Amino acid sequence: MATIAFIGLGNMGGPMAANLAKAGHSVKAFDLSTPALAQAAEAGCQTAGSAQDAVKGVDFVVSMLPAGKHVEGLFVTGDQPLFDLIDSNTLVIDSSTIDADTARRVAAAGAAKGIGFIDAPVSGGVGGAQAGTLTFIVGGAESQFAQAKPVLECMGKNIFHAGDHGAGQVAKVCNNMLLGILMAGTCEALNMGMKNGLDPKVLSDIMKQSSGNNWALQVYNPVPGVMDGVPASRDYQGGFMVDLMFKDLGLAMEVSQQSASATPMGSAARALFNLHKSAGNGALDFSSLIRLYQDAE
Ligand code: NAD
Repeated sequence: MATIAFIGLGNMGGPMAANLAKAGHSVKAFDLSTPALAQAAEAGCQTAGSAQDAVKGVDFVVSMLPAGKHVEGLFVTGDQPLFDLIDSNTLVIDSSTIDADTARRVAAAGAAKGIGFIDAPVSGGVGGAQAGTLTFIVGGAESQFAQAKPVLECMGKNIFHAGDHGAGQVAKVCNNMLLGILMAGTCEALNMGMKNGLDPKVLSDIMKQSSGNNWALQVYNPVPGVMDGVPASRDYQGGFMVDLMFKDLGLAMEVSQQSASATPMGSAARALFNLHKSAGNGALDFSSLIRLYQDAE
């Protein structure tokens, strides 16, 4: 069993750290939030007084932070950067969704000090983090992927090697751009059906068995009352925030611009989530986008 520092114990990181502890690893957890630290302690993690304390003498560091600036600040550019403290045989696994350029830059800064750093963003949401069934999408060297895999398997079910450093982040934003488009399309179709007198549950059942079937319809229906246990049935609390979907669609637009890839659908989805966020819905789950359609009428 390994000694693992876990930095960032939010909606995703909290349950992921808990699953590492449950698997028998010795987890040294840190977050800026005191309640998050208390929950980690309840879940069997040791808590550290700072990120710097957490990473001393560990085999792995896992980070689960909001965005690229947090990751680069922590490891490279901030006060007491962790790359000054981490042992050279330690592997850093960053599971945050961040831009690929930052991921590559941080990996290069680590490599200059002999420290391995891979991008390993996840898909599967808070439910997947709790159940230990996340999909990990790794960017890094083959040997680093092999080293990380047993740790990732304690938190996830499907572990993919997308390619070299940054490739995990590119694959992740391709997926989330598609998710944003699918959710917007699902909201649009359900709203039109409801406006024409259809029961959203009946329409969802029809489309799930027809060519419009997709992940949002299958497991994340945006209309309240259609499906139990989804954010739509608890006033869009918890889940995957509009703010984070908007961030990911922005990352997708950066990748699109850098590679001159046509992304008109991704761009439209970003505009829709931007409107919804601007109306004060940033902290709601992203399936609340259906309210944008309903409010528009
Ligand atoms: P969150 O805001 O719930 O958690 C982030 C945590 O990081 C917070 O607890 C915050 O206090 C902590 N933090 C920030 N800076 C820190 C620092 N310097 N040191 C220590 N702790 C620090 O966010 P989340 O929903 O857990 O998402 C984390 C990442 O995972 C994001 O990049 C997000 O895009 C991605 N993601 C989220 C989901 C989801 O469904 N929520 C799904 C897939 C990927």
